[in-house]
Amino acid sequence: MKKVDCIIVGQGIAGTMLSWFLLQEGFSVLVIDDGKKNSASRVAAGIINPVSGRRFEPAWMYDEIYPFAKTTYAELSALLKVNILTERNLWTVFPSEQLRDAFNAKAGKGSNEKYTTIPQTLQYGEYLKQPLGAAIIKGGTVNLKEFLPAYRQFLENKEALLPVHFELDALEIISHDEVRYGEYSAKRIIFCDGAAGATNPYFQAIKFLPNKGEVLMIRIPGLETSDIIKKSITLVPQSEGVFWAGASFAWNYPDELPTPEQRAHLEEKIEQLLLVPYEVTDHLAAVRPSGDDRRPIVGFHPEYPALGVFNGLGTKGCSLAPLMAAHFAKVIGNKEDLMAEIAVNRYFNRPRR
Ligand SMILES: Cc1cc2nc3c(=O)[nH]c(=O)nc-3n(C[C@H](O)[C@H](O)[C@H](O)COP(=O)(O)OP(=O)(O)OC[C@H]3O[C@@H](n4cnc5c(N)ncnc54)[C@H](O)[C@@H]3O)c2cc1C
Repeated sequence: MKKVDCIIVGQGIAGTMLSWFLLQEGFSVLVIDDGKKNSASRVAAGIINPVSGRRFEPAWMYDEIYPFAKTTYAELSALLKVNILTERNLWTVFPSEQLRDAFNAKAGKGSNEKYTTIPQTLQYGEYLKQPLGAAIIKGGTVNLKEFLPAYRQFLENKEALLPVHFELDALEIISHDEVRYGEYSAKRIIFCDGAAGATNPYFQAIKFLPNKGEVLMIRIPGLETSDIIKKSITLVPQSEGVFWAGASFAWNYPDELPTPEQRAHLEEKIEQLLLVPYEVTDHLAAVRPSGDDRRPIVGFHPEYPALGVFNGLGTKGCSLAPLMAAHFAKVIGNKEDLMAEIAVNRYFNRPRR
């Protein structure tokens, strides 16, 4: 038997960050990932946005989460020789008077003061419809497209990657601190399997609310910017004049495939924003792994403590994953107590209805 401290299922942003911080804590890991092409992390634009929702509230724990993410991504950039985090302005076009008023009510107050400004002059006049004006929010993007494969290579070089589909039926739970999978024996296994986690029978108590997002890749001739442009749709510059344009939300969906309905919906939003023609070059879809209370879902199964979960990153995987993973790794190393707000036990302790 090959022995490791921890098997991790999934190498999206969750499994990537958790395996990294477990290694930093001195644990050995084996990451099993099947390379699903349309995982959330492989389709996401990697946006980091300090404010949430229609009321421009500061994002949960942002003042702790963002500086930690920035340091982590800088360390990993140096190690992997990939530029991971790019700080960018989100050029936020007001889609309605209500949203403009909500923004103005919050601008310059509390922690929003650090992250939001009203621009002196309106940019992008020949490209964007913006009769109600725009604001600037200071955010960024995580270059998931290069970061995740580079980290995968790093794991492979350490012989810490198994690039296969994990079969739950083949998992043997030997004791409270041993599981076996094929030729591997581990003290624990942690599921970082994103939306697939919703079908894990051991964690049926978790109230997952997975939701599907669709995205178009579009070319906008002449528009050159490093800003993210946001109205009812978000445009994120990629390479060579292409923009990621997304994303839709659907709670009921028969499968994970792109649909003509959502393409039409996205195109409508693009046309409400752009004054210029564009060309669609691709159409993608993926499922976001969200819990019902929009908080990460972290910890060990109450009856089978060799089984753990790190999931529920929802729409904010790129900002949440580093600090949450570092914290979980410290909990596993008995250096910190698990934050109650993210503990998976909140689901197991709920009264049954
Ligand atoms: C359209 C869209 C846009 C988004 N935009 C943003 C954004 O701009 N910024 C942001 O922060 N977040 C964004 N998100 C959310 C973000 O993508 C998620 O929060 C994050 O990717 C979740 O990461 P994860 O590692 O938990 O799950 P995933 O990325 O889904 O990773 C799970 C991994 O597990 C693997 N896996 C699953 N089951 C198995 C198995 N049985 N065996 C082996 N491997 C397995 C999969 O291959 C995958 O690699 C977006 C999501 C979507 C869908």
